[in-house]
Amino acid sequence: MPFVYADNAATTAVTPAVLDAMLPYLTAQFGNPSSLYAFGQTAHRAVANARAQVAAAIGAKEKEIFFTSGGSEADNWAIKGAAAIGARHGKTHIVTTKIEHHAVLHTLDALKKQGFTVTYLDVYDNGVCRVEDVANAITDQTCLVTVMFANNEIGTIQPIAEIGALCRERGVVFHTDAVQAVGHVPINVEEMHIDLLSLSGHKLHAPKGVGALYCRTGVRLTNLIEGGGQEKGRRAGTENVAGIVGLGRAITDMVANMDTNEAKVRALRDQLFAGASKISHSRINGDLEHRLPGNFSMCFEGVEGESLLLLLDANGVCASSGSACTSGSLDPSHVLLAIGLPHEVAHGSLRLTLGEDNTEADVDHILDVLPQIIDRLRDMSPLWDHIMEREAGKKEAN
Ligand SMILES: *Cc1c(COP(=O)(O)O)cnc(C)c1O
Repeated sequence: MPFVYADNAATTAVTPAVLDAMLPYLTAQFGNPSSLYAFGQTAHRAVANARAQVAAAIGAKEKEIFFTSGGSEADNWAIKGAAAIGARHGKTHIVTTKIEHHAVLHTLDALKKQGFTVTYLDVYDNGVCRVEDVANAITDQTCLVTVMFANNEIGTIQPIAEIGALCRERGVVFHTDAVQAVGHVPINVEEMHIDLLSLSGHKLHAPKGVGALYCRTGVRLTNLIEGGGQEKGRRAGTENVAGIVGLGRAITDMVANMDTNEAKVRALRDQLFAGASKISHSRINGDLEHRLPGNFSMCFEGVEGESLLLLLDANGVCASSGSACTSGSLDPSHVLLAIGLPHEVAHGSLRLTLGEDNTEADVDHILDVLPQIIDRLRDMSPLWDHIMEREAGKKEAN
């Protein structure tokens, strides 16, 4: 049976080139970058080189890149750090959207318990927030605007450059969780007026457990992790040297191949949309234009998302109902509710996220099994019977 990995928004494979770059730092070159002898300095140089690679990939300066344990830590640091500085100036209001990742939303929940207030911007039915809403939400009390670059469930891309320009003009710190976007779409932190940006290795073919926070020169943040003097005293902990080297290599490769990858992945994704849209009572989630190239998200009425995933798995397809972090919970995704889907529709969601390794054969296999699986689930579904009866009733009434 074919094996099709179509969950690249959850995590990606480390490429052979990335693994090769990392291996020396897991074996012979195991020195501590903080050690003064030459052996440690080899590791130190490797970290410095990776810092330059990450900076170049997003148009930042090397000294503005701080390595972390991943996207979640970068989000926590950016938001808690900016909030703490804001509070010192009596500013305790934060603006965000309804569709952020839980690393952002749960961090904001923690801040609300400390007395911060949060405005959650609408994203309308296309999953994109509006710059004028951001402008209206900012007050004298606002210390931070945090809006994700691209959504992990429905792939929608937010108007980051416009929000950046607005925040700069209004003197408010602007953070973006760009974990899904870095390496996939062009990003320049200077041109986009971004103050803080989170990225993660394992969403772009580096290993899990490494990421970075870009912090623009002059933007003050309190530390999240205290200890040794690593990362210029701003993020303690002995560096994950091999992971950092892998991140540097992976991000460089992703940016170098962005155009080719994008064209390939987008074409496959559009084939999936075209094929799956033929299934009755289906709908595409989120804007088609402002969207990550590899993101497919649809809802199928009268289908229970978890059962759909299990049957896809039985047919060799790794898929998701939305975000990996919410699987296991029975609540529908906050993102699908935010774009106005009724609960029962949001329950029948399917996310397929394609990467550079996917092929036409993968798409063919998915489109081969998906309609049959949906038919089978609808045959067993009381909800589907109900939908059919309701429609029959409407026809009679006409
Ligand atoms: C995966 C993800 C994160 C978390 O990154 P980790 O490195 O897994 O901690 C944060 N935000 C978004 C949008 C993500 O997709």
